[in-house]
Amino acid sequence: MAMVAPGYLRPQESGPVSAEQDRAIAAACPGLTVKITTTAPIDDPLWGPAYFIGTGFATDQRLRHQASSGGVISVLLVHALETGLVDFVVQTAADPLVPTGNHTVVSTSYEDIFNAAGSRYATSAPLAGLEDWLARPGRFAFVGKPCDVSALRARAAADPRIAEKVPLMLAFFCAGIPSAAGNGRILDRLGVKREDVASFRYRGDGWPGFATATLKDGTTCRMSYADSWGQILSKEVQFRCKICPDAVGGSADIACADAWYGDDRGYPSFEEQDGRSLVMARTGIGAALLKEARAAGRLETTPLDIGEIIKMQPHQARRKRQILSRLAAMAVAGRPVPRYRGMKLWAAAARENPLDQARSFVGLVRRLIQGRA
Ligand SMILES: Cc1cc2nc3c(=O)[nH]c(=O)nc-3n(C[C@H](O)[C@H](O)[C@H](O)COP(=O)(O)OP(=O)(O)OC[C@H]3O[C@@H](n4cnc5c(N)ncnc54)[C@H](O)[C@@H]3O)c2cc1C
Repeated sequence: MAMVAPGYLRPQESGPVSAEQDRAIAAACPGLTVKITTTAPIDDPLWGPAYFIGTGFATDQRLRHQASSGGVISVLLVHALETGLVDFVVQTAADPLVPTGNHTVVSTSYEDIFNAAGSRYATSAPLAGLEDWLARPGRFAFVGKPCDVSALRARAAADPRIAEKVPLMLAFFCAGIPSAAGNGRILDRLGVKREDVASFRYRGDGWPGFATATLKDGTTCRMSYADSWGQILSKEVQFRCKICPDAVGGSADIACADAWYGDDRGYPSFEEQDGRSLVMARTGIGAALLKEARAAGRLETTPLDIGEIIKMQPHQARRKRQILSRLAAMAVAGRPVPRYRGMKLWAAAARENPLDQARSFVGLVRRLIQGRA
């Protein structure tokens, strides 16, 4: 994976690709194809498959505070590791060489998982080392963006080692990946020079927590989540993420998100408070793990009516309702359209106001023709 301007990771050919390898790539690359198959009792057009839907948090207060929202992903990883379900975890953490960037890490202890907790709104490629993780002795849990997990599930159909070695796949809802240039703009806004930064976190250390640069002299500069995401990063999201049909992690065993509380205007409130996650068990394996972690006292959950999710995630709901009109816009503009299967795009589109649907279509056709998308 190579960084290309303005700072997105793209696959680069490093040697000849056989016709067979090319077919395997085409079958698994989430830029080309996303497919969800499920037998879950719930399969919602906006929120995907579910065996359990709830809000929750890790009872370990230190981990809950360190994590992005309620620390559910991290505590499930700790549980999986400490009960022997897995021998290691493949996840994403801060890159020690580029503090605003990411690298993939192998975690084998509570402290490793603690140190990798928290969302990092920067490019990541946790599957780039898949062959290495598969070659390592033992089984592992995988944490990734929805596209990473759907790619791993797709590869599992062709590679039996994956079912054997990866008993747990976790994802988070994903609003998309901003560019490295966008990440750097936070430092500019904070008035901080890149070479002075010792470490950087995007959020966590509270809910939602602050984008915080810690400088080499020990001082810190920080920016609210509403400013870092709302004013800077959300404007830098790459195009593929804007046509993502599965930003809710439908292929994962469990997907987590922010269980934001709505404010008086019906928008999610980003006031600092104790972290709370939205938790969706999407497979029987995920539901069983949640039950076990709850019984072990590591996790508390409260069931949630599916109709409540839209109050926490209004932007994700709108994106899903408008995917079909965006794909239609791409086809009209002569762009290749990815193959999406099993995500109830028509049912989601039927929930959109026709005027907003038309605006989404026309707006994207215009941006594509003008070369702005
Ligand atoms: C790019 C991005 C976009 C997001 N968009 C949304 C959204 O639209 N709506 C929403 O509700 N939530 C979104 N989240 C997820 C949200 O911030 C929380 O991660 C989620 O609530 C789970 O919280 P937690 O406390 O259980 O996670 P934690 O316990 O803090 O665990 C987070 C896990 O995510 C992994 N991780 C962090 N950054 C990355 C990355 N860039 N790539 C791969 N893995 C990573 C870490 O290794 C860790 O295992 C997004 C996160 C990211 C990274």
